[in-house]
Amino acid sequence: MPPQRDHATSEVPNTPFWLSSGKRNADVIVVGAGFTGLRVATTLKTERPEWKVVILEALSQGAAASSRNAGFACFGSPGELISDIDEMGLDAAADLLSLRFEGIQALQTDLDEHGLSSVTDGGNEVFEVDRQEDHETILFRWEDLLELWERAGLPSDLWLEQRFSGFSSQLLFSGFHTKYEFGIDPQELYDSLEKRAVSVGVSIHRGVTLEDLHARDSEVRLTTSDGSWKSKYIALCTNAGRTPKFAEGLYPGRGQIVVTEPLKEHPFLGNYHVDRGYYYFRNIGDRLLLGGGRHVYKEEETTRDLNTSRQLIEHLKSYIERILLPGKDVRIEYAWSGTMGFHTGGGKMPLLSKMQNGVYRCVGFGGMGVALSNSAAMKLSTMILNDRS
Ligand SMILES: Cc1cc2nc3c(=O)[nH]c(=O)nc-3n(C[C@H](O)[C@H](O)[C@H](O)COP(=O)(O)OP(=O)(O)OC[C@H]3O[C@@H](n4cnc5c(N)ncnc54)[C@H](O)[C@@H]3O)c2cc1C
Repeated sequence: MPPQRDHATSEVPNTPFWLSSGKRNADVIVVGAGFTGLRVATTLKTERPEWKVVILEALSQGAAASSRNAGFACFGSPGELISDIDEMGLDAAADLLSLRFEGIQALQTDLDEHGLSSVTDGGNEVFEVDRQEDHETILFRWEDLLELWERAGLPSDLWLEQRFSGFSSQLLFSGFHTKYEFGIDPQELYDSLEKRAVSVGVSIHRGVTLEDLHARDSEVRLTTSDGSWKSKYIALCTNAGRTPKFAEGLYPGRGQIVVTEPLKEHPFLGNYHVDRGYYYFRNIGDRLLLGGGRHVYKEEETTRDLNTSRQLIEHLKSYIERILLPGKDVRIEYAWSGTMGFHTGGGKMPLLSKMQNGVYRCVGFGGMGVALSNSAAMKLSTMILNDRS
């Protein structure tokens, strides 16, 4: 018996009749079409072809972070790994590093299998000359790093000391190098993941924001900006979350990137991290890409605002002219921003859990999810596939 309702006497949802006969029922609804959501949806549909798998995405194009990042397939420079040990303890830092590295390996395999490009010049950590003590601290704590890598099951040559030449006068010649990092084209990866999701039969609905959900018996009901849906499972792959209601334990951070005009001389090849990853730069052909600096304006940049940040663009331009290419006057030809999801508790491990019957989430990747979203998405998919409730 269909529900009794009378538009003249009561509030009923503004949903066309044509969508009312089960078309908005699914077996799995993934919320968020970033790297994580696309991978989860594709895995579930591939493993259970009989399931109807739907993705709902708030933004009309792209994603909040996945199509707007800097494309570093990275797992943490020595400076960042030491702060991870200090902030989380050795065991938690090893678990995080191990999941990130699993993501790096899975991403490399994925790029190879799908013929996607990568730049394999490796990764480097470099230091401003005025912060030589940061470099000395790492050398002093090298034993801690070796222990971390061993606990994470990683090789002892994960990072090695390196001397650089022909560098900026504002950077030390001594730093660290890893052969395990690489650079990707995030948009190329994004397009490929989206195409794969559609080709296995996942349907993607853009411009639809999840507003509320209620889990009852064996189904979850969703209220969205485009009417109601119901499903057996919900996977929240919403990273920072566009609606605070689904961002418990998280706060947003706007990341800003700039890319210069083509440069005649370019001393940098590969990926570079400075100041524990607060700045990161890489060459894109003969251009320089620089991102970061958010820590300088932390309060103002704690926002879901999708516009670029004027103050950060100026800050990054000045960083290039003062530190990376001192004395050069460079033109910024591209500038864009994206939204990251950080933990209010300060942790860095993505929040990956079953929240209630039928409701799962995998969110909060901070500034390092390009590779990590692979391994985390695999874990979330396995949890849903093994759900016997
Ligand atoms: C500027 C910038 C540079 C970065 N650089 C790097 C880098 O070089 N290397 C690296 O490893 N990582 C980097 N990152 C981080 C990396 O991009 C992310 O960790 C990763 O893309 C997270 O993927 P995701 O799918 O979990 O989240 P997202 O890509 O953020 O996708 C989540 C999606 O959920 C949608 N959503 C949220 N709430 C709702 C709702 N209520 N209803 C419907 N949809 C919703 C959002 O619109 C969004 O599209 C960077 C991030 C930024 C912003």
